[in-house]
Amino acid sequence: MGADNTHSFAPAIILFGSPGSGKGTQAKLLRHCLSGPHISTGDMLRTHIGERDEIGAQAERLIKAGKLVPDELVNQLVERRLKSRDCDSGVILDGYPRTRNQADVLLRMLPVHQLRPAVVHLVVDYDRIVARLSGRRQCPVCGTLYSLKTNPPKVAGICDLDGAKLVTREDDRESVIRERLHEYDVQTVPILNYFREAKVPVFEISGAGASPEQIMQRICGTLADSGLVDSGSTSGGAAATDAASETSFS
Ligand code: ADP
Repeated sequence: MGADNTHSFAPAIILFGSPGSGKGTQAKLLRHCLSGPHISTGDMLRTHIGERDEIGAQAERLIKAGKLVPDELVNQLVERRLKSRDCDSGVILDGYPRTRNQADVLLRMLPVHQLRPAVVHLVVDYDRIVARLSGRRQCPVCGTLYSLKTNPPKVAGICDLDGAKLVTREDDRESVIRERLHEYDVQTVPILNYFREAKVPVFEISGAGASPEQIMQRICGTLADSGLVDSGSTSGGAAATDAASETSFS
């Protein structure tokens, strides 16, 4: 398939960044300017763990240790998910791909579904990450993330959306966080270059020093400037353009 045909393809936005860089939060906020589902391999794996099925059993031990689960397993989950009709208008990928093999498989899968990739790299320094993750809480029902410091729930310990009791993820303990950052450095960071070599646009966006909504405006503004989403769908207007000036394209 020629590269020119891909202009009419819907965007597959790959949210890239270390654990705790805000990918999950941004994936939800990006509904503001992007259509299509939020596909989080971490959430899919946690659902399987909750259902106590075979995939869950395989994933649970590795996730608790801060290790990655096998490529074949997550590749299959994503491949199945991309077949759903709701992916026709685009997708937001969060936490996938994380290895060179996953990136390779994804770049082959996307054109089959008439999707074209673009990477949004959320950049945040690691000391800030450790502080953020150890104060993080998640709703076990809808997956919404809260931060005790910067984005607390209205009622302590309770999800604003469905009233469920918030939990601390087992892999948000400091020693496990350090292991996850190590896995990210070794396995995941190198695939940014792989994307660049494959001519996938990579947008570097600061994921710190602003509210989640302002960071969302930075991302939507940048995607609109590059023609990946309609500029009409970014309601930030001038604010989005200002915020987007804190971004760079490589
Ligand atoms: P975070 O990005 O904060 O680490 P996620 O919810 O994306 O959290 O992932 C939690 C864990 O699930 C990871 O540490 C890893 O063990 C596993 N996981 C999620 N996505 C993948 C993937 N694409 N490849 C391998 N393991 C994954």
